[in-house]
Amino acid sequence: MKPFRMRMAHSLISAYELDQYMEVIKPIPATSNEMTRFHSNDYIEYLKRASPEFAEKQQLDTQKYLNFDDCPPFDGIFEFCSISSGGSISGAQKLNHGDSDIVINWSGGLHHAKKSEASGFCYVNDIVLAILELLRYHQRVLYLDIDVHHGDGVEEAFYSSDRVMTVSFHKFGEFFPGTGDLKDIGIGKGKHHAINVPLRDGIDDDTYSSIFQPIMQKVIEVFRPGAIVMQCGTDSLSGDRLGCFNLSMNGHARCVQFMKNFGIPLLCLGGGGYTVRNVARTWVYETSVLLNKEVSKVLPYNEYYEFYGPEYVLDVPKSNMDNQNSPQYLEFIIKSVFEYLRHVQHTPSVQLHEVPPDWPGFDSEAEAEMLDQDADANMETRITTLQNDRHVTTMNELEVDNDDANDDDSDTYLVTTSSGRTVRLPNPQSGRHRRQARNTKQKTSRGSKITTKSTRTNRNTATSTNGNIQTNKDDVNEKSTKETNTPDEFIGDIYKHNGTASRPVRSNSSILSNESTEKKQEIENKNYSEYKSEEEKEKESVEEKATDEKEENIGEEKKVDEYKSASDAETTQDQEATSAVVGDVKNVETENNEMDVDSNIQDGEIEKAVDEIMEAEETVQNNNDVEENQKDDLESANNL
Ligand SMILES: [Zn+2]
Repeated sequence: MKPFRMRMAHSLISAYELDQYMEVIKPIPATSNEMTRFHSNDYIEYLKRASPEFAEKQQLDTQKYLNFDDCPPFDGIFEFCSISSGGSISGAQKLNHGDSDIVINWSGGLHHAKKSEASGFCYVNDIVLAILELLRYHQRVLYLDIDVHHGDGVEEAFYSSDRVMTVSFHKFGEFFPGTGDLKDIGIGKGKHHAINVPLRDGIDDDTYSSIFQPIMQKVIEVFRPGAIVMQCGTDSLSGDRLGCFNLSMNGHARCVQFMKNFGIPLLCLGGGGYTVRNVARTWVYETSVLLNKEVSKVLPYNEYYEFYGPEYVLDVPKSNMDNQNSPQYLEFIIKSVFEYLRHVQHTPSVQLHEVPPDWPGFDSEAEAEMLDQDADANMETRITTLQNDRHVTTMNELEVDNDDANDDDSDTYLVTTSSGRTVRLPNPQSGRHRRQARNTKQKTSRGSKITTKSTRTNRNTATSTNGNIQTNKDDVNEKSTKETNTPDEFIGDIYKHNGTASRPVRSNSSILSNESTEKKQEIENKNYSEYKSEEEKEKESVEEKATDEKEENIGEEKKVDEYKSASDAETTQDQEATSAVVGDVKNVETENNEMDVDSNIQDGEIEKAVDEIMEAEETVQNNNDVEENQKDDLESANNL
């Protein structure tokens, strides 16, 4: 999970010159305040200070917030999180403003991070933060996760929301994080809006497509998202150190292509992936897929060329491992998921779903008439009850509560319009509307001019105060006591910016077009073209040599030596130009260090993996039993 993966990917993206076909931006890092839109204040405060020394001193807090096995403290931890999540938030903003159709942040996708706890190499959940940003402009956002691990942090955040559908394809059964059962489908309003596709070891390209494509087709059809966030974790590739699937690079990218084809604003994020050369290969190839640009299978020379040997090609082939996903099992999963989605299908759209049920069928003439009457009757009121009710969503306060038991008066009454049509109007004397008026008053007294639209966001996002989000409830109170981070403040912030909310853009960002930036860009471009012309020469000679050596079957060692000396001759003059959407890489470490660390990880992980496989084998029989039971359950459900 080190920035090294992104550095490799970006270097190869540049070598393929794919960066010429996209706008490369350097987003500002996320602030702690932005992070607390999802995360708890005390957790983020801890992260800001979490050097290894500090973690050692604060044992209790460290145990509470970090899991040492997966999430050790390290120097620069907060900066790392800021860069990663800043990229995803900025990406969401680009989509919101229509500046881009597709945004990539390969340094994002940290799907395990929880509200008050780091998990599975993830400290700050950039995905949840990006989705919250998208929800400011989009009624419904789809989250899709093809990492080999369940996207638990994101699912948990939106488990009770019907504005975010989370779909995760992952290995399930004796595998981290242990969640993501087919039966976990969301709660409350979010019921049927969490889709889990539990898979078994060894799934290959065609099998994966056979389940991925029909499910995603159906999801898009019924949920109709305004934007998609796709986590493209590459630990689902064949040969990953922690994964157990058998996807080739092409099979993985097929999912990206499939989602791109819907033409819906798309935020593509990274995620897991622990065989670094394959991570880089796949994200580079997927960048080309998203750009609709064909790239050569022969790898161009790049900063990390020697890592891609001995083949030096842009490919991750599948292996001959056993596929434990039988056609019957997959059929059962698809059938179950379709059954869940059927409930979503019967919700024509959030818009209609949210309109109060006792106001059916106004035509536009009657509607206009009714609005006039309402305006005349409420001249002193800025937002009348009627206007409130007519918003896309209702307010929390409209939900049935105990007060209703005492209200025996009707919520509506009938009037005849001048055109002779009978329409139903809200009864201002009814308990429901009196209650609503009370609540509106309360809001005003808190000093924030919140429209129902903002309340809608408030209610459904992860920082909701309605208390039905399991993981949030303990935190809601403490958030509410801290003024700067209450959900209302967060929502208020949107309107401070008058609907075009945007985080401030750093002055040296390439998004800006002010004079100094242009000059800087000019210099960068000049350096870059000089750098490239030198690089071209290197590249040509090195590529020729590589081909020759392959043909002559000359040993690996000599080749690596040559490339290393070529690398040594390179300068780092182009650091500025090459830092990009894939992450601002600052901590330059030597390649050798990285390789050593990698080998250590590999040794440890292989042992772990073997253990996992042994355990998994033991549970296969159990799983089969469970599957049988599930089948029976489904059958009896169908019969019912
Ligand atoms: Zn993963």
